[in-house]
Amino acid sequence: DNDPMALNDEMPAVAIRSGLVAIIGRANVGKSTLVNKLVGQKVSIVSPKPHTTRHRLLGILSGEGFQVGLLDTPGYLVKGQDQLDAAMSRQSATALVEADVILLVVEPRRPGDVEIHFMDQFYKAKTPVILVVNKVDSVQKGRLLPVIEAYAKAYAFEEIVPVSALQEDGLDLLVQLLKRHLPREEFLYDPDLVTDRSLRFLMGEVIREKVFLYFDKEVPYFVAVEIDDFEERDGTQSDYLRASIYVD
Ligand code: GDP
Ligand code: MG
Repeated sequence: DNDPMALNDEMPAVAIRSGLVAIIGRANVGKSTLVNKLVGQKVSIVSPKPHTTRHRLLGILSGEGFQVGLLDTPGYLVKGQDQLDAAMSRQSATALVEADVILLVVEPRRPGDVEIHFMDQFYKAKTPVILVVNKVDSVQKGRLLPVIEAYAKAYAFEEIVPVSALQEDGLDLLVQLLKRHLPREEFLYDPDLVTDRSLRFLMGEVIREKVFLYFDKEVPYFVAVEIDDFEERDGTQSDYLRASIYVD
């Protein structure tokens, strides 16, 4: 990297960096958790079951001289693709093309077919890719190194960052490294926003998350929530919300 600005944090912030960052990775690796922790608020629902994320949801992370629009893409399935899965991988592909930087999120184990497929896509996209090895809290340190080596051999990642999204471990470093690879551009969004989604949308998402959490085999993996009524109330009263839950 022969970009003199990139590696010298002592220099005055003459340039503002801003860009779109796609969060890519197979289902359940912790992409939504990572987005929520980075943004500091729940903008993407989290579930122990795969495929809870159906929307391409944008979280916004603003800091001193930089702003990142995070594209949280649905998990990726190679085998047993039904129409929905196909649509979800299309969304991932779109995010890949739009992004200025890609974060490939993986669990601390060697690359599998899904990861290899993604790395193949990266060669074509020519977008800088940062490997985020998540859930490091779940493995012994000695197991991490061979995983990192296997990934480093498989693809020329700009950075490789081990993190625990859940325990908020390594996230500062991740942001630090991410900033270096953002284009020098003006902010895309109001720095006060954390998402471009409406409050109603987010309320629906939280309800959808709870449906997945509290039901198991009863619920098919299609659940949609519509907010029928929402009243914000002042003072001591709770806000009022009525919603319909649709299942397949
Ligand atoms: P996504 O499908 O990639 O968006 O994954 P989610 O963010 O929905 O997370 C899937 C599951 O992994 C949830 O049960 C999370 O609580 C869990 N998880 C996420 N990050 C971590 C982590 O850093 N450590 C551990 N142990 N679990 C995590
Ligand atoms: Mg998700």
